Amino acid sequence: GQFVYTFLEGNKGMKNLLGGKGANLAEMTQLGLPVPSGFTITTEACKRYFEDQNTINSEIKKEVESAVAELEQRVGKSFDGDPCLLVSVRSGAVISMPGMMDTILNLGLNDKNIEAMGKSTGSMTFALDCYRRFIQMYSNVVLEIPMYHFESILDDCKEANDLKDDKDLSEENLRQLIGDYKQIVYNQTGSPFEQSPKKQLYAAIEAVFRSWNNERAKIYRHLNGIPDNMGTAVNVQMMVFGNMGDSSGTGVVFTRNPSSGENTLYGEFLMNAQGEDVVAGIRTPRPISELQEVDKKVYEELVTASQTLEAHYADMQDIEFTIEKGQFFLLQTRNGKRSANAAIKIAVDFVKAGIMDKRHAVNQLGLAQIDQLLHPKFDQEILKTTKELTLGLPASPGAATGKICFNAKAAHEANENGEDVILVRTETSPEDIQGMISAKGVLTARGGMTSHAAVVARGMGKSCVSGCIELEVNEENGTIKVGEELLKEGDYISIDGSTGKVYRGKIDTVSSSLDKDFLSIMDWADEFSKLDVLANADTPLDAKKSREFGAKGIGLCRTEHMFFDGQRIKDIREMIMAKTPSGRQIALDKLYPYQKEDFKGIFLAMETLPVNVRLLDPPLHEFLPKGKSEIQEMAEQLDVSYEDIIKVIEELAEVNPMMGLRGCRLGLIYPEVYAMQVRAIITAALEVMEEEGIAPRPEIMIPLVGNPEELSLLRKLAQRIIHELDPDAKLGQVKIGTMIEVPRASLVADQIAPHADYFSFGTNDLTQMTLGYSRDDSGTFIRKYKEQKIIKTDPFQSIDQEGVGQLIKMAIKKGKAHDSHLKIGVCGEHGGDPASVDFFNALDIQYVSCSPYRIPKARLAAAQAAI
Ligand code: ADP
Ligand code: MG
Ligand code: MG
Repeated sequence: GQFVYTFLEGNKGMKNLLGGKGANLAEMTQLGLPVPSGFTITTEACKRYFEDQNTINSEIKKEVESAVAELEQRVGKSFDGDPCLLVSVRSGAVISMPGMMDTILNLGLNDKNIEAMGKSTGSMTFALDCYRRFIQMYSNVVLEIPMYHFESILDDCKEANDLKDDKDLSEENLRQLIGDYKQIVYNQTGSPFEQSPKKQLYAAIEAVFRSWNNERAKIYRHLNGIPDNMGTAVNVQMMVFGNMGDSSGTGVVFTRNPSSGENTLYGEFLMNAQGEDVVAGIRTPRPISELQEVDKKVYEELVTASQTLEAHYADMQDIEFTIEKGQFFLLQTRNGKRSANAAIKIAVDFVKAGIMDKRHAVNQLGLAQIDQLLHPKFDQEILKTTKELTLGLPASPGAATGKICFNAKAAHEANENGEDVILVRTETSPEDIQGMISAKGVLTARGGMTSHAAVVARGMGKSCVSGCIELEVNEENGTIKVGEELLKEGDYISIDGSTGKVYRGKIDTVSSSLDKDFLSIMDWADEFSKLDVLANADTPLDAKKSREFGAKGIGLCRTEHMFFDGQRIKDIREMIMAKTPSGRQIALDKLYPYQKEDFKGIFLAMETLPVNVRLLDPPLHEFLPKGKSEIQEMAEQLDVSYEDIIKVIEELAEVNPMMGLRGCRLGLIYPEVYAMQVRAIITAALEVMEEEGIAPRPEIMIPLVGNPEELSLLRKLAQRIIHELDPDAKLGQVKIGTMIEVPRASLVADQIAPHADYFSFGTNDLTQMTLGYSRDDSGTFIRKYKEQKIIKTDPFQSIDQEGVGQLIKMAIKKGKAHDSHLKIGVCGEHGGDPASVDFFNALDIQYVSCSPYRIPKARLAAAQAAI
């Protein structure tokens, strides 16, 4: 195969081979945009390099040789001549991994050609500045000499000469520095700094190949689910110089605001600087709008190029550019990372502008990001009385509060101990990635909106405030200072990544609401999806919330949750303590009005949408107190003896409560409990109908059925009460269904179906009983299992398709064989998990049901599964 492609040969469709950067450099070249010439060594060459025990074989070498020769000819410069050719050697993964791998600039310089370059460019300081940077980068990336060796010498030099900025270094300073740098190289490696440009080139290519496997790249891939075997391409490109004086510069822009999605050019630039200076956050860059004042012509070229690229890619672009003595060059474009808010707004704006159609708009949204939309905000009331500590850049939205930690390790440990952490750094580097994962938010003193901290935080959906210039971070002393105010490691701090504001202390957060663009996208999503998304909601408040999020009904209303607070728990305890059916009935009569009121509230909120109520499910002992003092309290409240309660607790105690007296078994042993619940449901529905003129759609679901007879008996009980309360069937036919959550129910689903108007898979219990893993205690070994690769994912999070999935398929098949119109849904937590939704979409299932906050993601997942 061909291992090397010039930018004139490639195109954007060749990402797998050329990497994202290379494919897009070629595409931009094809579009006639100003891109410095160069070529790309493919990902296949990288794989070969690893296969050949980290050597570049002769076949690949030959292609590189001729690509270099061609490049030399095209640009009229050469590695060993005057003018000398300088190149950048840039990594380029197939899936963008910003800042995770290595790039070397100014390659080709040596002691000899540096003098010629100084002469021909008319600036010796410029040439020397390039050489200094090159030695530093090359030594770090290729020779693996730690950066601090060079940085400390550079700092000393600046301090000794009272200079603030790298660009103020004089020719003499630079010569001194270069000498010292070369000495470091000699001390560290025992060899002088490599002088042959060709040898430098091959060493750099190999180093970029190897950087595929550096630690931070591996962590990033792991976090983002990127396979480890893809390899990186290497781009070799003629240098253009942003550090050639005040009419040169470099910058990074997004074609739209990556936080808000607003349609304005967004980014930063620095004059007299090379690319890395902007991203690394070493100098604080200027906002892109100011480029108009510095160089109007270049600014306009940038605007035009941005528009061209955005329209061409039909996506928001993240662009790197350099200006060499007033001449504009593009160095990179890629689809820009953005906050969830921005993603939604941009998608809607693109559809309006005809750049995208609805289907694509829905399909291209990142599911993981959708959670961000529901991201917390600070409690506005508390905020009113809280003074701002300082202000930085709003780099990634969402409010976060936590204890100050200064490094990845501390953040990780604190997080393991269950503490909320804000990672505070002068600037983050890709090494901080583990700390960012552990933190609730990230705060940096330096660096702009496109710094590593900002880019990575946005990708993770973490709150981030960057470039907080008033902040003095002293990691050594474990303190931060803003003016006179001092905070220590472990103190609480709060940051708002949507406004850039930083506050002292802890501020409570509240969840946020949804805007109109979001609602449009969600409506579009529903047009494409096959599955409806319903809510697991137990209270009128949850019901309201779930409608805001677009639930098509309630797929699971757990009645036991209505019994837990205040007077109710007392009444249900009275029922449990009752020794006779009539005693039980007295207690149930007290519970009845609460249940009825709750159902009325829920029916009102859901109007004519279906509300699937599950009758009492958990074992009764869950309602009894545990501690001594609580038992004492209960004894006093109910006027029974302490010993009586202990006796009942002992009677009800079960070795395997999840497989004990619960669900329909409870309903069959204490039918008066289910009778009361059905009465409450139907009466509530009739009253709402009477009072509000809307016809609620209650459905009654019997849990934990494994034997058809269980369902048959309880169905009759329910029907009798329904008929008694609603003899004229004002409510229509009230559906009575069952959960399929015991494996046996799946196995005999054909016998169960005749007694059921619908099936709802209770995938939590079904998983528990199929795998024999306790839902409540499996956390520890599931983690170990994942580490040992026995299982890929937690089966309680993402459905076990091979095992539990088979039981689901079987039940559907058997159920549908009895009644092809049988309604089928899923009401376990899996309903909100995209991978599971994708699985359910392929089956004959009508709806999934999940907790309110997971609904938006589930709706989008359902649409994407169907598209
Ligand atoms: P990353 O993947 O980390 O963004 P890049 O390969 O894009 O690394 O290089 C980092 C920076 O180096 C770029 O932002 C760009 O400004 C600068 N750079 C790369 N190649 C060249 C070049 N040929 N001429 C001038 N600057 C370059
Ligand atoms: Mg780049
Ligand atoms: Mg269950």
